[in-house]
Amino acid sequence: MANKYLLSEDQMPTSWYNLNADFPAPMAPPLHPGTLQPAGPADLAPLFPMALIMQEVSQDRYIEIPEEVQDIYKMWMPTPLYRAPRWEKALDTPAKIYFKYEGVSPAGSHKPNTSVPQAYYNKQEGITKLTTETGAGQWGSALSMACQLFGMELLVYMVKISYQQKPYRRSMIHTWGAEVIPSPSDTTNAGRAFLAADPDSTGSLGMAISEAVEVAAMNDDTHYSLGSVLNHVMHHQTVIGQEAMKQIADAGDYPDIIIGCAGGGSNFAGISFPFIGANIREGKKARIIAVEPAACPSLTKGIFAYDFGDVGKLTPLLKMHTLGHDFVPAGIHAGGLRYHGMAPMVSHALDLGLIEAEAYTQNACFQAAVQFARTEGIIPAPESSHALASVVNAAEQCKQSGEAKTILFNLSGHGHFDMAAYDNYLAGNLQDYAYPEEKVREAQASLPQVG
Ligand SMILES: *Cc1c(COP(=O)(O)O)cnc(C)c1O
Repeated sequence: MANKYLLSEDQMPTSWYNLNADFPAPMAPPLHPGTLQPAGPADLAPLFPMALIMQEVSQDRYIEIPEEVQDIYKMWMPTPLYRAPRWEKALDTPAKIYFKYEGVSPAGSHKPNTSVPQAYYNKQEGITKLTTETGAGQWGSALSMACQLFGMELLVYMVKISYQQKPYRRSMIHTWGAEVIPSPSDTTNAGRAFLAADPDSTGSLGMAISEAVEVAAMNDDTHYSLGSVLNHVMHHQTVIGQEAMKQIADAGDYPDIIIGCAGGGSNFAGISFPFIGANIREGKKARIIAVEPAACPSLTKGIFAYDFGDVGKLTPLLKMHTLGHDFVPAGIHAGGLRYHGMAPMVSHALDLGLIEAEAYTQNACFQAAVQFARTEGIIPAPESSHALASVVNAAEQCKQSGEAKTILFNLSGHGHFDMAAYDNYLAGNLQDYAYPEEKVREAQASLPQVG
């Protein structure tokens, strides 16, 4: 029996889906970090091209994908949807498990779905250079590939601990022609301040963002690019869910439960937002679950409030689930899930009761990932393994109740550059860590006071 559902190129989506058109209540606007008044398009113009700013504030349900972007998408899209019968058997569950696999992109994750259009729109506006931050290196590698395809320069601030621990993603970024600086660095005012406060700082995404934003703000030919969190990134990733909706229909099914891991929220938004739209507009009843690490629980323990996107307080204030912009994560292996905040669109969806959130510790995640690798072959990224832990939980509930539910999850990337993490798990050396409640209360005190 075929368990692989492929689309032809002419079935690929030609527009991105914008859940803002269907939210039953509007989102809170971003605020200017100085005035605390709603930030308008002009406030964002030093950092982003106007086309992306307009997508950021758009209420249109569909946003057309430029032809040049569609052409590059076709290098790896449509991505496959699979059924996982061997894993179902190992889990001894009546549930049917499907997964959308984003690891087939050249960078090995879903991130090129947004790095390509972001580079494209900047290039269209005459920008020649981008800056960005990267944690584990997945975003830096995806954007370096996109910039190379459009003949643009890229400077990547890479969280120092990952720069040291993940040399091969650094090598990928170099191979695709971009420059990498470990953050915090002495190349920016923000970085020098972080180093003055703590010369041994191992860095964080929030610090690296401050450095990248500062360089973009100071140079007219340079813009900044963010790989998750912002509305336009969520829209771009909906190619995942739009394709999956067609593919699971080809399989003769519709999901009862949809699961994605959530760091900044983009791959989760990608798989789920088209289905949330169907829940709202067509009365479908799919349960939608965002899964995060217990060590970085912005959705399950964070506060829904305005906060900065970075440690240096340079970014606009976003209303989101946050652990506080000063958050420095524990050294868990899911490097891509260690951001202090969560996408405002995902946070808003949780606040409206449109989605649920769960958190798992890393041993449970790696256990699920190893079982998956041994039954279905693919070795998941440590980030993606959080979605798998939730699938195991849902499949177990089906076993208890005897219900044959249909589960769809997003396998956001492969783990080929994270094998040291698997070595640690297999050797029994991984620590489980849950973020303490008192730290959440401490962070509350550092949140900006917004009237
Ligand atoms: C970056 C990354 C994530 C986390 O980012 P989101 O914006 O939450 O999707 C998850 N999985 C993989 C493979 C990643 O590279």
